Amino acid sequence: MSALPHAAPATPLAILQQVFGYPAFRDAQADIIDHVTAGGDALVLMPTGGGKSLCYQIPAIARHRRDHGVTVVVSPLIALMHDQVGALEEAGVHAAFLNSTLTLEETQKIEREMMSGRLVLLYAAPERVTTPRFLAQLDSLHERGLVSLFAIDEAHCVSQWGHDFREDYLALNVLHERYAEVPRIALTATADDLTRADIITRLQLADARVFVSSFDRPNIRYAIVEKDNARTQLLRFIHDEHDGDAGIVYCQSRKKVDETADWLTSEGITALPYHAGLDADVRKKHQDRFLREDGVVIVATIAFGMGIDKPDVRFVAHLDLPKNIEAYYQETGRGGRDGLAADAWMAYGLADVVNQRRMIDDGPAGEEFKRGQRAKLDALLALAESHDCRRVRLLGYFGESSEPCSVARQNPCDNCLTPPATWDATDAARKALSCIYRFHQNGGQRFGAGHLIDVLRGKATDKVAQFHHERLSTFGIGADVSESQWRAVLRQLIALGHLQTEGEYNTLELTPSARDVLRGDVTLLLRQAIESPTKRKRSAARAERGRDKAPPVALDDAGLARFAALKAWRADIAREHNLPAYVVFHDATLAEMARSQPGSLDALAQISGVGAKKLEAYGSEILRVLQQ
Ligand code: ADP
Ligand code: ZN
Repeated sequence: MSALPHAAPATPLAILQQVFGYPAFRDAQADIIDHVTAGGDALVLMPTGGGKSLCYQIPAIARHRRDHGVTVVVSPLIALMHDQVGALEEAGVHAAFLNSTLTLEETQKIEREMMSGRLVLLYAAPERVTTPRFLAQLDSLHERGLVSLFAIDEAHCVSQWGHDFREDYLALNVLHERYAEVPRIALTATADDLTRADIITRLQLADARVFVSSFDRPNIRYAIVEKDNARTQLLRFIHDEHDGDAGIVYCQSRKKVDETADWLTSEGITALPYHAGLDADVRKKHQDRFLREDGVVIVATIAFGMGIDKPDVRFVAHLDLPKNIEAYYQETGRGGRDGLAADAWMAYGLADVVNQRRMIDDGPAGEEFKRGQRAKLDALLALAESHDCRRVRLLGYFGESSEPCSVARQNPCDNCLTPPATWDATDAARKALSCIYRFHQNGGQRFGAGHLIDVLRGKATDKVAQFHHERLSTFGIGADVSESQWRAVLRQLIALGHLQTEGEYNTLELTPSARDVLRGDVTLLLRQAIESPTKRKRSAARAERGRDKAPPVALDDAGLARFAALKAWRADIAREHNLPAYVVFHDATLAEMARSQPGSLDALAQISGVGAKKLEAYGSEILRVLQQ
């Protein structure tokens, strides 16, 4: 049974405060919740971590209190339903899920709860919602006026444009066709126009009000570094900035995931692999450990992450280039959901550009689709190569204009923190292209980047001798440009489409537009490669702010001891309830308790994140832990 007293005032704000223990709504939440509670349809576009869940949970509670019955939440990931429901039950909201992990008995019990009208929220996967059995149950509830709301989470799964397309989502418009007057709210963090248009058509949401939030994630610090030795760079990044933190490392292939996880483990980091090639139970075990233990690093392909709402992921690292900016934004968005600082770190290099282009070229898609993919890749490359504010570029991509991060702001991107020097690479680019042209003239052979750079820098290698390249007029004309600068020039030329790579050895070839560069019609301004420029500055800046590591608020020694005691207490509760610790209380909530040392239940209730049910269940124990 719901622990919520029926007579309680049910304004959305009152529910936010009593049930969830938060003082105020964020941005658009209040408008969305009012609209949906009143029975309107909505499409909500909000970045990951923006607070989408409350946008349907609070209307569900408010409408249930007005005897509208159950809210059905369609969610694609059955593996996460257990924790989502656990979090609601912890807050005193009667919720359940139906999926294939339940026994027949458990299923029947939940169905009875649903049919009785007592259940507030029911989570189910799309393939379950659209079964004849489930629809028959909904019919019967609907006849009694007890279907309150449909919430369709991760709504971009309905679109083939996104990378998470799910066939089962297409069948969801049956909900609208059968129960036309039941309000629906669809939610997603994927913002591009194509996906949005698809969601509206396919889910028949033409009359829904569309709420678009700002996509800025002010607590995320974006940094993109030039790949040198990616693994070592990653290790240094984790050691220097994220010792003991939870994080996600994305790699492109399963093999690389396994190797990277092994290697991090051998370096003393708790790192677990996750990809579609692992057994389902291994995947589940690794995901559970990531969610439940402190400080686990998961190394994964993009198969990992959707629906993961662990709030304290402190970094998301990319060892390979993601597919496009949408993917990058979703993946990096999994950091810092709790609003505290988190890093989005990516290492990228020439090989990434070559590989991604190759994957598109060799892919099975039609030419038009490939053109679209190439344009998206170009936008991502432009972001990686940019020497101005990453945030401005990211938001600009989603159609939002913004100001560069100010360094006074807490979490500037790498380029704002340390504006990179630029150099005019126009001349160097022409030298590189004419050297390739000379290769052609001189026997028609093609060569890869390594040899080209050797020739430009005038290195007497065996290969140079073999092909008599020391005789070329371009031999040694670029000795003043460093090897890493040359790589940047080539990367940029490939990114801009003036050069392409061919065959197994990635040999370089001019494209028709190379002529524009040779003629001097194209100016290339490149970022100057610098040795990990942000690290020292950032650490210094952070030390000044005195918040180098958790806890999220500054605590003195006694405060730290209280924080540790609270965490130990929380770990026991979480184990007892088989839930991740953050479902019991977030770190930020515990830290605030440790800092302000509430001496009474009333004082404890004032802390953000302490709702009525948790106060009742845990209040006196917390006061006891604090007193010890
Ligand atoms: P999303 O689904 O949009 O990625 P969530 O719904 O998981 O985001 O919310 C992210 C975090 O923000 C959660 O930990 C949630 O409890 C918290 N949150 C959401 N709304 C508020 C609010 N109004 N005040 C305080 N915390 C909030
Ligand atoms: Zn910036």
